[in-house]
Amino acid sequence: MIGIFGGTFDPIHYGHLRSALEVKEVFGLTKLLLIPSAQPPHRTQPEATATQRLQMLELAVSNHSELSVDARELAHDGPSYMVDTLASLSEDYPQESLLLFIGSDAFKYLSHWHQWQRIFDLAHIVVLTRPGTEIDHLEAFFKQRLCQQLTELASTKAGKLYFQPVTSLDISATAIRQKIINQQNPGFLLPDMVLAYIKQHQLYQRH
Ligand code: ATP
Repeated sequence: MIGIFGGTFDPIHYGHLRSALEVKEVFGLTKLLLIPSAQPPHRTQPEATATQRLQMLELAVSNHSELSVDARELAHDGPSYMVDTLASLSEDYPQESLLLFIGSDAFKYLSHWHQWQRIFDLAHIVVLTRPGTEIDHLEAFFKQRLCQQLTELASTKAGKLYFQPVTSLDISATAIRQKIINQQNPGFLLPDMVLAYIKQHQLYQRH
């Protein structure tokens, strides 16, 4: 099983990294790919450039061989749609099933994603429980796919939905950017090497 953790990573922080490491272990994944998006279709555009976000990701995982960075969404212009990314990954890893990890805040908007139902033809979706965001009501489409046991994911290659609690770290890239604007120190919310990169490139200093 290959795990996919997409995001803007503007910047990458310990909320992302801790969750990625935990799911790599819990699901016994062959690989966990952190995939930065070029132009996220559903939100405001990132402040750091694609290259800067990629370099920060590479610094963040440089001492962690259990996590990998995959830059395929940055290789083309225009918006990056997860359905296309998954199709491309399933060509690269035809023997593996794909597990797409998303935070519970992102899951609430899943039905606005481009061809979102087709995502379930290509991958299982695992929703990471994030502090302050509870899923109270599930649509029938999701209820039909819901698994209670992790082992049920192995019964098919794609199409299931599973909720996985991860250690709650109430960290967001927005809060980190805001601290920098306010000239506060965001230390210990993200790796020191990433923070040094942000300082060196004077990122996030203005609105
Ligand atoms: P922003 O504050 O700019 O919206 P973010 O911190 O939410 O950014 P993203 O890059 O948008 O980070 O998130 C990528 C993925 O990581 C999403 O699925 C999101 O739900 C998840 N995620 C973000 N922060 C955390 C966290 N603290 N714990 C677990 N998952 C997280």
